[in-house]
Order: sequence, then structure tokens, then C-alpha cells
Amino acid sequence: MIDFTLTENDEAAFDYERAAALICRKHARYYDENEHELAPEKLPESDEFYATHPKPPKPGPHDTSQACRLPRTAMIRYWGDYTVRLNRDRGGLGNAALGAAGTPEQKQKWGHLCLSMAITEPGCGSDPSRVATTAVLDESTNEWVLNGEKIFVTTGLRADAVVLWATLDKSAGRAGIKSFLVEKGTPGFDVPHKEKKLGIRADDTAAYVFSDCRIPRENLLGGDESISKENSGGFRGVMKTFNMTRPLTAAMGLGLAEAALDFTRDQLVEAGVPIDYMAGLSRQSAAAEKFIRLEALWDASMLTTLQACWLAGEGKPNNMESSVSKAHAGGAVRTITQGCIEILGAMGISRDHLLEKWTRDCRITDIYEGTGEIQRLIIARGLLDYTRNDLK
Ligand SMILES: Cc1cc2nc3c(=O)[nH]c(=O)nc-3n(C[C@H](O)[C@H](O)[C@H](O)COP(=O)(O)OP(=O)(O)OC[C@H]3O[C@@H](n4cnc5c(N)ncnc54)[C@H](O)[C@@H]3O)c2cc1C
Repeated sequence: MIDFTLTENDEAAFDYERAAALICRKHARYYDENEHELAPEKLPESDEFYATHPKPPKPGPHDTSQACRLPRTAMIRYWGDYTVRLNRDRGGLGNAALGAAGTPEQKQKWGHLCLSMAITEPGCGSDPSRVATTAVLDESTNEWVLNGEKIFVTTGLRADAVVLWATLDKSAGRAGIKSFLVEKGTPGFDVPHKEKKLGIRADDTAAYVFSDCRIPRENLLGGDESISKENSGGFRGVMKTFNMTRPLTAAMGLGLAEAALDFTRDQLVEAGVPIDYMAGLSRQSAAAEKFIRLEALWDASMLTTLQACWLAGEGKPNNMESSVSKAHAGGAVRTITQGCIEILGAMGISRDHLLEKWTRDCRITDIYEGTGEIQRLIIARGLLDYTRNDLK
């Protein structure tokens, strides 16, 4: 049986995260309105916070497992506003890709760097087999020559290097795609701008351009061996990383939705609207009834997320469950934040409060790391035992 009961140690860890998250929330509006600025590596309050808040103990054998602490921690951080952080860690999505597809030497060499991951291009998003960025081996110098354009790269400005998807042979589709590590400062690698977005505006999202950019032959992830294999340095090697990151993306959106629910509950209480969980839905005001339904939707989504992470922690396959959690949360967080706006009316859309921002911020839950439609394809394939070619 899966048991998600929290221990005192777990609660202490989450209280710590909540206190840090509240500091980040104080800066959320500023960086939303000043999108061109990058939030600092360290917020002004960060030193004082760490001096006065001792780190909580790591989970012991009776506490919630690390795999299940991760999504709960992500939820709390986004409940505050994790696009503005107390203290930035140095990891990006590319670090997970390096961990999954790099050789031991590559992990040793680049593991300390902050790595973004660039798959998406102006003409390629949901279907990465359409990657048009090319990598051509120049045998005379033993260098790869890269040409192409990438958009919407998370951690794009801060990253020290990128795990770049490029094709060796467009006619080979997925099999031709490999990933390469390209360090910032390499001639021919330009970062033209930070993207302007609907939500998570404080987040560092950039565009990249590669023009005759030359990198050493050994920068092919997985090494030369991966040229002949589809599962290393290319699709499957890196796609594996999404099985853990998709539930975490779900958790981030759920954190924003939880903030919206907390704010709405407070406003209902202040307005004297009782929410009575024992009265049944038919004996509530319309506002309270709607609110309880939104909370139930949040709970359901949170449980799918915990289940996907728990499976990963147990070393069990979770490909379908991680897509279930992502697809469910992608829809739920939109329904919840929109529902909170409907309950609160003008207060919901006023920039005097953060609810309108959380509504914009959570839209990304259903876009990056595969849209809701793509998650549903993965789920359908898993349930019906279809291959990618049977159902696309
Ligand atoms: C803030 C932000 C950060 C991002 N960070 C990164 C990053 O770090 N690295 C990176 O590589 N990318 C990143 N992305 C890109 C993101 O992964 C893509 O936007 C996403 O995969 C969708 O691709 P697309 O926008 O090209 O949409 P398209 O693929 O053009 O899809 C358009 C619409 O068609 C639907 N659709 C597509 N194919 C199908 C199908 N077969 N069946 C049914 N419906 C379908 C989609 O669901 C979508 O609604 C980021 C995007 C954003 C907005």
C-alpha cells in the first residue's frame, strides 16, 4: 500500500520551504512587471533567512521518501513563487539529460555546470523528430559543425552550457537526432534575447542561434558509440529524464493553484461565506460549493502526482503515470485558477493581488515537457499497448 502520511520531520521540512517561499512571493510582482530584468542569484533576504532558519533534517527511514518529498517541495516553492528564488541552484533540465545519456567522463567533466536543454525550434515543438538544427562532422578537424535556431530555452541566459538536440541526417527522423554539449562563449553560439511571455515572466527563457558553431567531437552526448544507437545521446536516452520531470512540472502548477485556493478561501472567510465540509454540496452557498469542488480537483491531481513520483522512487516503470499526472494537472490548474477568479470577481483580475498572475503563470503546466494533447497520446499508447506508429 502507498502511504503518504507525513511525519514530524516531513512537516518541519515543509514549514522551512513555506517560510522561504513567502519571501519569494514578496518579490513576485516586481519581476512579473519587469520581465527584462533577471531576478538576482540571491535575494536580499537570503542570508538572514539561512542564518535564522536551520536546515531541516534529511528524511529518515520512517519519513516520506525523497521521491515523494520532491513534488511536495516543488508545490510549496511555486506556491510562493519559485520563478523568483531565495538562492538559485545551478541545475537546469540539461543536467538531467547529461545524467541520463552522458558517459562517465562527460558527467565528470560537465556535471558541475548549469545546463539548459534546447529541443524546440520555430518549426518543431511537440514532434521533436522534426528537429532541423544540423550537426555535421568535420573529419579533418574532428569537430561538429552546428547550424540552427532554438526557442523557449529555460535557464537559457543563466546556463553555462546547453544540451542541444541536432540531426545528423534529416531523412533518418528520430534515429538521426543526437544531443551535444555546447558551452557558452563558443564562437557561433549566440543568445539573441530573453523571450517575452504570458506568465512565469521572471523565469529565464531565451532563444539561441548556432551559426557554423564548432565543438569538439567528444561533445556528442554518449560519445561516438551513440551515433549508431538510437537509445543513447538521442531520443530514448534523454526522453527517460521526462518520467521524473513531468510529475514535478505537474507539482509546480499545483503549487500555483494551491496559492489561488488559499487566497480565495481567505477572501470567502473574510466576506463571511461559510465553507462547511460536513454540510454536503447542496446545503452550501454557490460560492462555497464551487470552492469545495475546486479543492477536490486539486486533491485528485496531487494524488496522481505523488503516485508517479512514488513509482519512480520504488524503481518501477512510471512512463504512463507521469503523463497522467502532467495531463491531469495541466487541466486542473487552469480550471482551479479560473474558478477562483469566477468566485472572487473583480478581485480575481485586479493586479492588486497575485491571483491574476497565478492564472497566467500556471498555463505553462500544460505546455512545456509535452502539451496535454501529447500526454494523452502517451497515455493512450500505454493503455492500448499501441506503438508510436499506431497512434500519432
Ligand atoms: C516558458 C517555456 C519554456 C520552455 N522551455 C523549454 C526548454 O527548456 N527546452 C525546450 O526544448 N523547449 C522548451 N519549451 C518549448 C515547449 O516544450 C513547446 O512549446 C511544447 O513542446 C509545444 O511545442 P510547440 O509550442 O511548438 O507547439 P506545437 O507542437 O506546434 O503544437 C501546437 C498545438 O498542437 C497540438 N498538437 C501537436 N501535435 C499534436 C498531435 N499529434 N495530436 C494532437 N495535438 C497535437 C499541441 O498540443 C498544441 O496545442 C518551452 C516553452 C515555454 C512556453
